[in-house]
This record gives sequence, structure tokens and C-alpha cells, in this order.
Amino acid sequence: MASLKIEGTVLTPASGDAYAAALERNSALSQLPAGLVVQPASYADVAAALAFARAQAPPLEVAVKCGGTHSATWASSAGGLVLDLAPLNRVALADDRKSISVQGGARWGDVYEVTARERVDVAGSPLWFIGVGGFSTGGGYGPLMGEHGLAIDNLLEATVVLADGRIVKTSKDEEPDLFWAIRGGGGQFGVVVELVFKVHPYAGPFGAGVLAFPGTEIEKVVHAIKTWKDSMSPAEKLTISFSRPAPHFKPSVTLLPMVLHDTDGERSAKVLAPFRTGALKPVFEKVASVPDLNTASHGADASLKSAPRRLIIRGTITSDFTPALVLAVWQKWVAFTETSEDVRGSAVMFDVTHPGKLTAVGAADTALPLRVPHYWMAIQGRSTTDEGVAAASAWTKDLAEFVRQKNTELSGTDLGWFINMCQGDERPEDVFGANLPRLRKLKAKYDPHKVFSKGVVIEPLAE
Ligand SMILES: Cc1cc2nc3c(=O)[nH]c(=O)nc-3n(C[C@H](O)[C@H](O)[C@H](O)COP(=O)(O)OP(=O)(O)OC[C@H]3O[C@@H](n4cnc5c(N)ncnc54)[C@H](O)[C@@H]3O)c2cc1C
Repeated sequence: MASLKIEGTVLTPASGDAYAAALERNSALSQLPAGLVVQPASYADVAAALAFARAQAPPLEVAVKCGGTHSATWASSAGGLVLDLAPLNRVALADDRKSISVQGGARWGDVYEVTARERVDVAGSPLWFIGVGGFSTGGGYGPLMGEHGLAIDNLLEATVVLADGRIVKTSKDEEPDLFWAIRGGGGQFGVVVELVFKVHPYAGPFGAGVLAFPGTEIEKVVHAIKTWKDSMSPAEKLTISFSRPAPHFKPSVTLLPMVLHDTDGERSAKVLAPFRTGALKPVFEKVASVPDLNTASHGADASLKSAPRRLIIRGTITSDFTPALVLAVWQKWVAFTETSEDVRGSAVMFDVTHPGKLTAVGAADTALPLRVPHYWMAIQGRSTTDEGVAAASAWTKDLAEFVRQKNTELSGTDLGWFINMCQGDERPEDVFGANLPRLRKLKAKYDPHKVFSKGVVIEPLAE
């Protein structure tokens, strides 16, 4: 194999620790032994790496890695070429402070360091370590969604290195088909090396923290959430988590509030009032005012650090926060996490954010077809051992299918799957819905030979 000459770094198994470090992913199950890892120093390096992969016989599989947090193996390759975009992480606020340019290998923490310093905000992820590239090409549901929509609804323009090596700018006016496809079509149209997002006025301080209730209170908590949700504002959201915390490992329901513009703590006090009545009282509570999204995005660091690293996530979408459905999920989660110590770290998360802004965009306006009111839910199968992985994986799949079916029965609408939390075995029509035919035509236009073939694969369709 002729060597690849670039300005950046090329790592092979012979590179030792640096190679091993470059293979690391958020989930231990997402790691694969790449043939080579390319860490580009420029957009031309990205093009050169793609040309190199294409020139091999047979061509090398290409995987693109930004934050490395996707829980399938989409950002890894067994024997192929991994484009590790980590060095491309520059973030620059425009002089007029209306937009921010972020390179495609940045994590949201890189962005939040700048926005916190400059006292502005951007519609990014709830967690600092999630990559801007993967999060955004899959839609991007985050803490500012209630007020400003998805990450893709805030994207103004992007720079993409196409499969044939061309480096193109794309926006609503320039190469608009490509701009449409990368907003929700996933990473299968090119390597997005730069994204320019709309900047919003500072949305803090933020009321954030944890309220934990014992599992015995689940029905009361779920009904209180439903009551809160029916009058929630776009400035407040709750993440609801089912987990078994140490040292007792008993079922627990935890609320993680995120309240924007919480200047004197009054807004968060109002949001949390239904959960602090005489009849319902948290056994543990730590809610505080945090100054910026950078701080808030580190809030889950300690609990995530102690969670088992063998992780499979599947996301589902529900039309409403329906107590009957949520309680059925609770029972299934309790039963599964009782089966063995290996898998008791498995968890379920519901995200309840005001969907108004999300639905202000049409289903065909971006590649992401989910524009009716909806809420996402993450099913996290975790195992402490290799032996527990098959059970955690099967449970994750079964529960996702149960939720989808139950939601369809209750609402009369099948919402399919959420690309950012897919595993790759989903049918593309269930992910991209009515937008699939256009995506297939654009795949033929931008990547006819399927250089980018990781994910829920879109087959090219020649016109
Ligand atoms: C703990 C946890 C919490 C999460 N919470 C949320 C949430 O609140 N909201 C939400 O929307 N999602 C959430 N996700 C899902 C997450 O957004 C996706 O897994 C996303 O793909 C991660 O992006 P990444 O860059 O870190 O991924 P990577 O693993 O690096 O890549 C994932 C995929 O994106 C593609 N990709 C990455 N960067 C680029 C690029 N620059 N150009 C082209 N393609 C690219 C890759 O090819 C790959 O297919 C969560 C995931 C985890 C693990």
C-alpha cells in the first residue's frame, strides 16, 4: 500500500499508544481496529485521505469520527480508514456576534467554552463530549430546542468535502440540495468540515440539577410530569431517567431539569413545585443556578463516569408523554434490570421539551422528517461484562419496538426511528419517511459509489 502524505497525522497499528487512543469511543462496543487512522490538519487532508481510500484495491472502507459518541460502530472501521476529525475543532464567533463557525471535529464543549466566555448561546447538545458533526447531521435535540429548534434549524451554512474530493460550500442559496441532505440525512453525503450556526442572546442563568424519587413513587411522579408538561413553556425542559443508583441499586426515577433565563431561581422553583408537594417529595435534591451551557453540559460527568462502558443506545419517538406508556416502560425496565448484576446499569431516559419550534419547520424542508409534536426517548442497554452484552442488546431492541408499536396504537401515527439513536439495522424508510426518495437521488448525485456507507444506509437512486 503506497503511503498517504498529508500535513496531519497518519496512525497505524504500529503507532502504539497514539493509535490505541484514536480508536477509543464513548461505548467500548463501538471500537474497531482500523487499518489506519487519519487525523487531518486541513480540509485538503480530508480530500487526500478520501482519494487514498478510493485508490486501494479493493477501496478501503471509510468511517468518519467527530465526538466518537455514537453507540453503534458508525465512526469506526475494522481494517478500513478512519477519518478522525478531532484536530479540526476550531470555533470562531463572527465579529457581528450573529453566527459562530465550528469545525466538523469539534465537540460541543469546544463551542460552549467560547459561548460561555462571550455570553451568547447556540442550539447545541446537552453534553459537552458529544461531537458537533454527528449530533448536527442527525438533527440535534438540545437544551435550547424549546426556544430555538433543532441544531439543524440553526445551521446557516456548511463546508463539505465530497466523496470525489471536491470541497464545497453549502447553504439555502449555494448547493441547496446538499444543504437539505446534511440537515437530518446523517453523515452519508460527505464530510462536513465546517458548520456555521445562528447565535442567540445569552439564555442563562440556567436552573439545572437532579431530583430523585424512589421507584415506589413512580406513578405519582409520572402523573406530576404529565401535569407539568401540559402547561410547560419553551424555556423549560425535563429529562426523566430510570436508573438504579449505588449503593442500594434500587429502582429510582430521577428528574433532570433545565430551565432557561432562571435569573433568581424563581422560574425553576415554579417548574419544580409539582414535585415538591407534601404528597411527593424527592429523597435527594440538588438544583442550582449554573452560569452557562458549558457548566451545565458537565453536570452528568460523575454519573456517566461510573456507568458501564459497554453501551448500546436505541432511541424511540413518542407523540406525547403518556402515563400508560411510560409506566409500561418502567415495568419492563425494572424486570430487565433485575435479571442480573451485569445489566442493572441499563437505563431509560425520556426527554420532554416544548415541541413548538420543532414543528415550525416543514417535514420536507430538511431531511429530518419528524416535524409533528414528539418527544424522544433513549433506551440504554449497559453491561459490566461481555457476557451481558447480548441480553442488553436484545432488551434494547425489544423495548424500542414495544414503544414504537404502543405509541402507534395510542396515537394512530407511526413515528419511526430517530437517526441519532439508531443502530443501523433499521429500515431507511422508517428513519427518513417520505424524504427517503429525495435522499436516494441526492446520494446518487453526491456519493454514487457509497464511499460513506456507515449508518442507516441510503442506497443511491439514479434519476
Ligand atoms: C450519552 C449520550 C447522550 C445523547 N444525547 C443526545 C441528545 O440529547 N440529543 C441528540 O440529538 N442526540 C443525542 N445523542 C446522540 C448523538 O447525538 C449521536 O450519537 C451523534 O451521532 C453523536 O455525534 P458524534 O459526532 O459524537 O458521533 P461519532 O460517533 O463521531 O459519529 C457518529 C456518526 O456521525 C457521522 N459524523 C460525525 N461527524 C461528522 C462530520 N463532521 N461529517 C459527516 N459525518 C459525521 C459519522 O460518520 C458517524 O456516522 C446522545 C448520545 C449519547 C451517547
